[in-house]
Amino acid sequence: MYDAVALGELLIDFTPAGISSNECSLFEQNPGGAPANVLGVLAKLNMKTEFIGKVGRDQFGYFLKDVLENIQVGTRNLVFDDEANTTLAFVHLDDNGDRKFSFYRNPGADMMLREEDIDFNIIDNAKVFHFGSVSMTHEPARSTTLKAVEYAKAKKVLVSYDPNYRPLLWKNADEAKQYMEKGLAYADILKVSEEELQLLTDITDIEQAVRYLEIKYNIPLIVVTLGDKGSYFKKSDYEAYVPSYKVKAVDTTGAGDGFLGGLLYQILTSEKNIHDIQGIEFKKMIGFANAIGALMTTKRGAIPAIPALKEIEEFIDNNINE
Ligand code: ATP
Repeated sequence: MYDAVALGELLIDFTPAGISSNECSLFEQNPGGAPANVLGVLAKLNMKTEFIGKVGRDQFGYFLKDVLENIQVGTRNLVFDDEANTTLAFVHLDDNGDRKFSFYRNPGADMMLREEDIDFNIIDNAKVFHFGSVSMTHEPARSTTLKAVEYAKAKKVLVSYDPNYRPLLWKNADEAKQYMEKGLAYADILKVSEEELQLLTDITDIEQAVRYLEIKYNIPLIVVTLGDKGSYFKKSDYEAYVPSYKVKAVDTTGAGDGFLGGLLYQILTSEKNIHDIQGIEFKKMIGFANAIGALMTTKRGAIPAIPALKEIEEFIDNNINE
């Protein structure tokens, strides 16, 4: 049995790493891809995980497989594409550590995931199935993603969804919205940023927008991540803003994935059905998730920045979220 299985993109994040002696920008080769990052957090917290996705048969693809194996994320369903190269993303950071991207994905191997590449038994044996929208930008991965999540839902696996809007990967915002919305119909746990929430609902008020999605798609738990302000969540008739922790952010890559990994860890270890977890219990779980998100901004990259349980617990003990 797997605690969590995730399907989606696995790629290289080239993260800024200073200036060379020739005064050229240096970039560090970091493993990336939101679904894999979420599994990385869970694996670091000793959960059993399996990744479903595709990389190129190239040096970057082999590197990514090694990285997942080294952090104990299962790669039985990581497939190599013989034609498309591994997707590359160059990350540019502004003074606040916020990211801008350039993607090299024309096509990228992650877009080439086909239904026949998937061992559906892996999904049968998962407690949580997690996916995002980057694997829905192009065919064939778009149909494959929807098929897999439909399968997970039919098998009553708890479905976690992070629409993770990356404007540069879509033809336009309308196309993005159309497919990001499709995922909402399957979500038991929805994690969105403020920008994604507004795109999906055309409503600027967070609480109103969340209520709209909750009712329209019948989603038990909706969480909105708010960067250094923490997060907001709604579970049935309980809703709350949960502040984050004060940190010196150097790179926000993976903070949202760290947050979601932390939340899924809390839900998995509570061993309760999501419907039976009380709002007040979620508040504590989301405080834990905020702590991982905050800690992940203090280091460069996503997977290399994932903290261990001891580090998270010490951080929570030694800091107040206000
Ligand atoms: P993604 O890029 O995956 O969509 P996101 O926008 O969902 O990410 P953020 O809101 O940047 O993710 O971060 C997720 C969580 O991490 C926040 O809800 C917050 O708890 C924590 N966090 C992020 N940035 C900071 C920061 N600068 N200081 C403290 N906590 C932070």
